[in-house]
Amino acid sequence: MIAYLECFVHENDTESRPDDDVSSLSKALDLQGSIHDCEGPTDEASRDFGGMYSLAPLAFIRPSDADDVARKVKEAARSSNLTVAARGNGHSINGQAMADRGLVLDMRSLDDHFRVVEANNGSFYADVSGGALWEHVLKQCVSEYGMAPRSWTDYLSLTVGGTLSNAGVSGQAFRYGPQTSNVTELQVVTGKGEIFNCSETENSELFFGALGGLGQFGIITRARVLLQPAPDMGVNRLLGGLGFVERLKFQVDLSYLEFLLRVKRAEEHAKANGIWDAPHPWLNLFVSKSDIADFDRTVIKKILKDGIGGPMLVYPLLRSKWDARTSVVLPESEIFYIVALLRFTPPYPKGPSFKNLVAQNKEIIQYCNKKGFDFKLYLPHYRSQDDWKRHFGNDRWSRFVERKTCFDPMAILAPGQKIFPRVS
Ligand code: FAD
Repeated sequence: MIAYLECFVHENDTESRPDDDVSSLSKALDLQGSIHDCEGPTDEASRDFGGMYSLAPLAFIRPSDADDVARKVKEAARSSNLTVAARGNGHSINGQAMADRGLVLDMRSLDDHFRVVEANNGSFYADVSGGALWEHVLKQCVSEYGMAPRSWTDYLSLTVGGTLSNAGVSGQAFRYGPQTSNVTELQVVTGKGEIFNCSETENSELFFGALGGLGQFGIITRARVLLQPAPDMGVNRLLGGLGFVERLKFQVDLSYLEFLLRVKRAEEHAKANGIWDAPHPWLNLFVSKSDIADFDRTVIKKILKDGIGGPMLVYPLLRSKWDARTSVVLPESEIFYIVALLRFTPPYPKGPSFKNLVAQNKEIIQYCNKKGFDFKLYLPHYRSQDDWKRHFGNDRWSRFVERKTCFDPMAILAPGQKIFPRVS
C-alpha cells in the first residue's frame, strides 16, 4: 500500500485519448457554456496545490447549473473516451481534480445558490452550491443569520463538493464528526448525466456513496448543511472547565470569524514568501490509538527528526461520529488520530527536493505497513487498482465497485483518482 507519485509527467495512458481538438469536438458534442482552450501545463485546470503533477485537459468548462453539468456528462458519455473531472478549488495535491485530455468542470462557476431553511424539528440548514467556497458559506451564514455550520476544515478556500468528496475534518470533528456527518441532502449529477436529490431516506445509496466518494459516483451540485448559532469567543468559559498548568497558558483573543479564517493569514504570508506555489508533498494519515505511540517513537521522533518544514497536526477523532454508510475509509479502532504533515518548504534548491520528501512519505507508509498498523491514508492516492482494493478492504471495495457500476458505469467521472479506467 504505497502512495505513488509521478512527477510532471503527461501520462501516456489509454484512459482518455480524444482524437479531436476543442473546436471540432465542441461542435460534435454540442458543448454549451464557456469553453476555454487550455494553453499547456500552466493553465489552471492542469495544475493543483500539490504542484507535482500536470495533466492538460481537452477543455476547461464553466457550467452554470446542474443541468449544464448533466449535459456535459452526457456529451462525454456519447464519446468513446472522454472523462469528466469536477474541479473544486484545485487544492488536491496528487492530480485528483485533473482529467488527462478530458473535460474539467470549474465548479466555482455554478450559480451561487444560498438559502437558509428551517426544518420542522426547528433545526436550521443552509442550501449551498457544490462549488461554493466554505469561506463564503461561513460569511453569509454568520453575517445574514448569525448561524454557522458545525464542522469545518482548517482552511476554508476549499469547495463544499471538494471536501464532501473526501470527509472534511478539523478540530470540531471530534465533537460533531466530519463535514460528511453534517449534511442532510445533496443534489448530485451521476456519471449517466442524471440529476438526483438524495438524502438518508431518498436515493440513500447515492447520498452515502457521494459522501467521501472521491467524486466517483456523481458531481455534487448542491448540499444542505446543518447549522447552529454561531458561537461567541467564550475563551474563559471554555478554559474554566479544563485543568492545566497556569504558566503554560497561551491565549490569543479572536472573533469566531477570525478564528475560522486563521489559515487565510498563513496563506498570505506563504504567498509573499513564494512557498505557497512551491510543491507540497503532503501526507495525511489516520492512525489508530493502539499504534500512535509506536508511530510517534519511530516516525515522528526518528524518520521526521529534522522536522517537516511546516505544521504537523495530530489530533484525535472518534469513529462513532462518522457514518459507516459513507464511502470514507477509516482505521478499525474507535479512537484514531489524524496525522497531517503539511510541508511548506521553499522550492528546490533553496529547500529540499520534493522527490526526497515524497520518498520520505513512502518510507513512512512502508513502516506503517511493515508494522501492521491499523491506519488509512486520508485524501488517499494510489495508482493501481490493487492498492485501492487494499485501501478499502474487501467488503468496502465490493460496495464501492457496486456503487460505481450503478452510478457511473462507464467510469467517466473523476479520472484523476486513478481508480477505474474509462469504459469505451
Ligand atoms: P479539488 O481539489 O478541486 O477536488 C478534489 C476531488 O474532489 C477531485 O477528485 C474532484 O474531482 C472532486 N470534486 C471536486 N468538486 C466536486 C464536486 N462538486 N462533486 C464531486 N466531486 C468533486 N482537508 C481537511 O479535511 N481538513 C483540513 O483542515 C484541510 N486543510 C487544507 C488546507 C490546505 C491549504 C489545502 C491545500 C488542503 C486542505 N485540506 C483539508 C484538503 C482538502 O479538503 C482537499 O484537498 C479537498 O479535496 C480540496 O477541495 P477542493 O475544492 O480544492 O477540491
